[in-house]
Amino acid sequence: MKVFLSADIEGTAGIAHWNEADRKHPDWIEFRALMTAEVVAACEGARAAGAEEVVIKDAHSSGRNLILDRLPDYARIVRGWSGHPDEMMYGIDAGFSAALYTGYHCKAGSEANPLAHTSNLRISRLLLNGEVASEFTFNALCAASYGVPSVFLSGDVAMCGEARDMVPGLATVETLDGNGSATNSIAPVRAWRLIREGVEAALKGDFAGALPKLADRFEVVLEFNDPTCAYRAGWYPGAKSHGPRAVAFESRDFAEILRALLFLKV
Ligand SMILES: [Zn+2]
Repeated sequence: MKVFLSADIEGTAGIAHWNEADRKHPDWIEFRALMTAEVVAACEGARAAGAEEVVIKDAHSSGRNLILDRLPDYARIVRGWSGHPDEMMYGIDAGFSAALYTGYHCKAGSEANPLAHTSNLRISRLLLNGEVASEFTFNALCAASYGVPSVFLSGDVAMCGEARDMVPGLATVETLDGNGSATNSIAPVRAWRLIREGVEAALKGDFAGALPKLADRFEVVLEFNDPTCAYRAGWYPGAKSHGPRAVAFESRDFAEILRALLFLKV
């Protein structure tokens, strides 16, 4: 069994401030270690369930957060950004049995994590087929487009709830809950144990059905904070203006949606 793991930082147990996610800030040093420990816990759970290999995408900001000499010998690591539209899922293919997610956070516009966002801070809301979407929405559909079920997620309470609603049978570990600029979190050491146990149990279970359904047709709407971003995005082939700060793009093919997002959101 080969397992894919997409690792972010804004849902890591204990996190409360953007400085802690910013590699140029000294606070990041502590949080890259905490992010790494959650990834290692997920790897250990996968190994205990029989995984021969775990491919980890370091999926936050620079893509260069994880402390590499803490990773187990059965792990591979994808660092940096290739430019491929799969982005936070880059490296996944049909050869994986399951996808896992750690450090995930709720969507832009949510009040349930002070670090809530979707993709970047220029986007005020990202909608898919009329519903406000999270990074996980797109990443789980990306995995599903390769036939890979999404089996486990750890992150903030709101993200976990939405992920369970979207993917039947998905196991979660709720690390923290946000109120305004504060977070209330379980201790990291508890998160590591729960992630290890949660991943092992999930991968030992029957997860074949943990595939979100791909719609027949997709419409993505990007609402920006700044109208100039929407003007620029409107030049992408097929993109249409969708009000003063937004563009819309439609396709029957989810891969085309991911390709469009790569260019629309910058
Ligand atoms: Zn991130």
